[in-house]
Amino acid sequence: MSTAPRRRLSARREERPVARTCTICSHPDREAIDEALVAGESTGMLAGRYRTIDERALRRHRSNHVPATLARAHDAEEVATADNLLEKVQSLQSRTLSILDKAEGAGDLRTALGAIREARGNVELLAKLLGELNERPVVNLVLIDPRVRDAIVAALSPYGEARLAVVDALESFEASEDAP
Ligand SMILES: [Zn+2]
Repeated sequence: MSTAPRRRLSARREERPVARTCTICSHPDREAIDEALVAGESTGMLAGRYRTIDERALRRHRSNHVPATLARAHDAEEVATADNLLEKVQSLQSRTLSILDKAEGAGDLRTALGAIREARGNVELLAKLLGELNERPVVNLVLIDPRVRDAIVAALSPYGEARLAVVDALESFEASEDAP
């Protein structure tokens, strides 16, 4: 191995010819320009408004760079929305399970059963949310994380009928994962 030629990476790297820089991408008002382009403002009008930019560069930028930016923004927005919603439901679920714990400890069956119903609703909501926001089946595996499943089933162990109902509900989600 010691005889292998060493590659010289460090100094040479900077000298590589770079693709022509897009003057719009590097423009200080790029965001405003992109917004105007997306809103349908003509490149001619924009070039008139920003005296320093070239209309051909604007057209090239509009067809080559704006779509990628929009796609990224769209993804980021969707991811943020999804994360936000999931976080809320997950936090609701942990509060529900904590209420269930307390009710169980206090022997308050009525409250415990209410909490179980809520917990079940949360699981269904999570499933819907994940299904709508992401079609990859792997997400369902996160939903039916065995630890979550075990925690729910264990919390319900004193309540036979409710426990069976929840196990059934969980199993129906798991069954749908196997669907093509
Ligand atoms: Zn550009």
